[in-house]
Amino acid sequence: MNANLFDILETGITDPDATAIETAVGERISYGDLVARTGRMANALVSLGVQPGDRVAAQVEKSVQAIILYLATVRAGAVFLPLNTGYTPAEIDYFIGDATPGILVCDPARADALSDAAARAGARIMTLDANGQGSLTDAAAGASPDFATIARNADDLAALLYTSGTTGRSKGAMLTHGNLVSNSMALRDAWRYTARDVLIHALPIFHTHGLFVATNVTLLSGASMIFLPKFDPDRIIALMDRATVLMGVPTFYVRLLQDDRLDRDITAHMRLFISGSAPLLAETHREWQARTGHAILERYGMTETNMNASNPYDGDRIAGTVGMPLPGVEIIVTDPETGAELPRGEIGMIEVRGPNVFKGYWQMPEKTAAELRANGFFITGDLGKFDDRGYLHIVGRGKDLIITGGYNVYPKEIETEIDALPGVVESAVIGLPHRDFGEGVTAVIVPTGKDAISEQDVLAALDGRLAKFKQPKRVLFVDELPRNTMGKVQKNLLRDQFGELYR
Ligand code: AMP
Repeated sequence: MNANLFDILETGITDPDATAIETAVGERISYGDLVARTGRMANALVSLGVQPGDRVAAQVEKSVQAIILYLATVRAGAVFLPLNTGYTPAEIDYFIGDATPGILVCDPARADALSDAAARAGARIMTLDANGQGSLTDAAAGASPDFATIARNADDLAALLYTSGTTGRSKGAMLTHGNLVSNSMALRDAWRYTARDVLIHALPIFHTHGLFVATNVTLLSGASMIFLPKFDPDRIIALMDRATVLMGVPTFYVRLLQDDRLDRDITAHMRLFISGSAPLLAETHREWQARTGHAILERYGMTETNMNASNPYDGDRIAGTVGMPLPGVEIIVTDPETGAELPRGEIGMIEVRGPNVFKGYWQMPEKTAAELRANGFFITGDLGKFDDRGYLHIVGRGKDLIITGGYNVYPKEIETEIDALPGVVESAVIGLPHRDFGEGVTAVIVPTGKDAISEQDVLAALDGRLAKFKQPKRVLFVDELPRNTMGKVQKNLLRDQFGELYR
């Protein structure tokens, strides 16, 4: 049976005249247009020499044409490789040297800077700018809209996404048609998506969240999305009276809460607010509910696995948890040393198995074998536990675990205590090299203002609330925490910055 993701997304089209994508400047692309434009683009790719299985790399700004390129690549049976727009030419050199795409699509302004790297990788450069113009669009303009989508097996690759790894070389996660299809269906059902939904799409499209979760679920449902080039609180607030769903990273919600206009009336037309890609503070969840009456639905996923768990659509969406495994997905918590499954309530390594889990890392069999067990479970690197009600709690990345004087300290537990203190906006607890303890527990805090809270205040407040070994040895203050584009706090940068503190 043909398992091509595009053909399966196409089954969601109920009305070819319905709007698939609306741009920030009000351009509407119907489903009929979308299919025709992906057909033209797929024909253009084939005429440029793209064969099934070839990689098509793209470092391009968010535009409708970029989504068309993604869908056309999939239609042509090729493998889409999106690249973060923030990557430098030297970084692109590594990615395309590793993935050897047939084509590299980039902004015209970057074509010269990338030409050497492209030549080394054997890739032909095509251009596409933020307005959807460039040599790629020109090539598609003259092509036929009719294209017979190339049949694929569920196990064939549809995309290659490099992990945003903060240590070591970035790895290319191989995602199959079956991975993407199964996850889109699971999320559509879990979140009750229908053709009546209108998504505010303000995420980047080089990452699993904006590319797969947001786009695939919308298209599979025959729903529509309003494409914003980037997060823009004014525009989002203005759109809420005709949209139904917002998918965001936690910083979207923090920033929207800073806007006085946010209230029940403004959000009355909205059906669902979803958060993921980084932990949503329980406090943000509560504040959002108090201001708007909506409980944010938090879900958990990663590049390698797509989405794994979600708070329920019907039922309690519990702040500080990522909910239950999605249908078809198995999640277990294991002893990081032995790999043995742990009883409910104990903290350990989160492992995931299911049709959503990737095929392995591109040309890295050892890394694949180290993280993907023979029985199909993927070792996520995230630490967590299930509570009595079966909700999964994430306590942090395994590499952020602090070992001090031989004791394990989970940063989240301390961050939760600190974040609840008056005068604190947010915090990151890290382990820094320490002569006596191996690592010293260190709190890095963003205060609400100058002199809002002191080191002594924090230490006094934690005394008696946390075991001595968990209490920070030092408390540092910063104006803001370093975050990547997906809103994740970059603890490795904090560890680098303050690494000499106890030496
Ligand atoms: P990425 O591959 O860039 O999507 O990053 C995946 C990682 O983001 C996961 O392994 C988690 O560490 C983190 N993550 C994603 N969603 C959540 C969430 N809801 N809560 C906490 N961490 C999350």
